[in-house]
Amino acid sequence: MIKSLIPEQTLRRIPLYHQILSELEQKGEKYVSSACLANFFRIEDTQVRKDVSLINYKGKPKSGYSVSGLKKAIGDFLGINYENSAIIIGAGKLGCALTKYPGLAEYGLKIVGIFDNNPAKIGSIMCSSSILPLESMDRVVHTFNIGIAIITVPKIAAQETCDLAVSQGIKGIWNFAPVRLQVPPEVIVKNENLAVSLAILSHYLKRRQLS
Ligand code: NAD
Repeated sequence: MIKSLIPEQTLRRIPLYHQILSELEQKGEKYVSSACLANFFRIEDTQVRKDVSLINYKGKPKSGYSVSGLKKAIGDFLGINYENSAIIIGAGKLGCALTKYPGLAEYGLKIVGIFDNNPAKIGSIMCSSSILPLESMDRVVHTFNIGIAIITVPKIAAQETCDLAVSQGIKGIWNFAPVRLQVPPEVIVKNENLAVSLAILSHYLKRRQLS
């Protein structure tokens, strides 16, 4: 597994800083203080300064951070200032919802193909994309230089579709199936699991009730 040198909590906050800075930019704000950013997360402003220093960005004494400058630095750090092309495997309910979600484009992710193995779906237009057969993945991946495969197939089919994507040279897997995927060391897997988030929420609620 590839480990980042940045603490996990900081890594989790960085995309949120980007989101906050985008909103401030839309409101026409030019500068933001570490105290103001800290307020969004209910953390100390020293922690914000630590987070920002980890991405090698410096504020201006008295004025704070340039909103556009810090947003660009975070975008460069996350690699979202450049377009990443992705495919979706599994043209079901979740695959369709992700295809329609405009928030992915805001993070530089462009979906260029959606694949399925169901002959009844292949060739039909769903969520404004034509559903492609798995056999054409090779062509699409190499033509569009795809780096990411988003897996939205049932649990039982997740490993085989992941293997197929990896065999085409894909190096990033965003996995929505509730299964731990086996991949070679050079491939990065990010798992999404709503049930885990719900379990954490439920745990915090229970702790609050008990205290
Ligand atoms: P769905 O049944 O609507 O869609 C699954 C699609 O995958 C279907 O179109 C099916 O034809 C296709 N498929 C099946 N086997 C395939 C294969 N070998 N190759 C290519 N395509 C294949 O399911 P859904 O509700 O969209 O859920 C999809 C996955 O996402 C499931 O694993 C589900 O557990 C998971 N899920 C995750 C979350 C989350 O928060 N992580 C939320 C909802 C669903």
